[in-house]
Amino acid sequence: MKIICIGRNYANHAKELNNPIPKEPLFFLKPDSSILPKRNPFYIPNFTNEVHFEVELILKICRLGKNINEKFADTYYNEIGLGIDFTARDIQDQCKKNGHPWEKAKAFDQSAVVSSLFIEKELLDLTKINFRLEKNNRVVQQGNSSDMLFNFNQLISYVSKYMTLKIGDLIFTGTPAGVGKVEIGDELVGYLENKKAFTTRIK
Ligand code: ZN
Repeated sequence: MKIICIGRNYANHAKELNNPIPKEPLFFLKPDSSILPKRNPFYIPNFTNEVHFEVELILKICRLGKNINEKFADTYYNEIGLGIDFTARDIQDQCKKNGHPWEKAKAFDQSAVVSSLFIEKELLDLTKINFRLEKNNRVVQQGNSSDMLFNFNQLISYVSKYMTLKIGDLIFTGTPAGVGKVEIGDELVGYLENKKAFTTRIK
């Protein structure tokens, strides 16, 4: 399986990092080796001094598809979860400056937190899904799917022009404002529609 991550899909987050608002979706990949095993803590890798959390809604792909029409895109995912796209921000800044790919900053081991909680999409109002991330019991990021620049169907249609979506693939749909650095000892808890979706300890 593969993980497709959407960048800059919330205007308030694009702004906080001084990035332009994209005119079409921007995406990159994380390999399956980036998934943090459930219940494992996240160990800050030694190649970075600045790992940021980015909480994101996740779509689970349930059907093989390529060149998917936006009108039918909603039949290609069945469940929504929550995760963290851990980012080595210092490395990413270097990559951006040099015009290099982002993999070192985005695709490293343990960089993808995937919730054990996934909710069937029929049970949600997809246009206004609430989610948040708490760090040490304080809310640091708060998001709503209504604030996405490109909605789920647009993202699926766009990505499938370039690569075939397979059953079990995940799409991280971008992060709202409030990203920040993690420190040893932090505890990150994600909530999807007020239900606890994951707990990640930083070591
Ligand atoms: Zn992200």
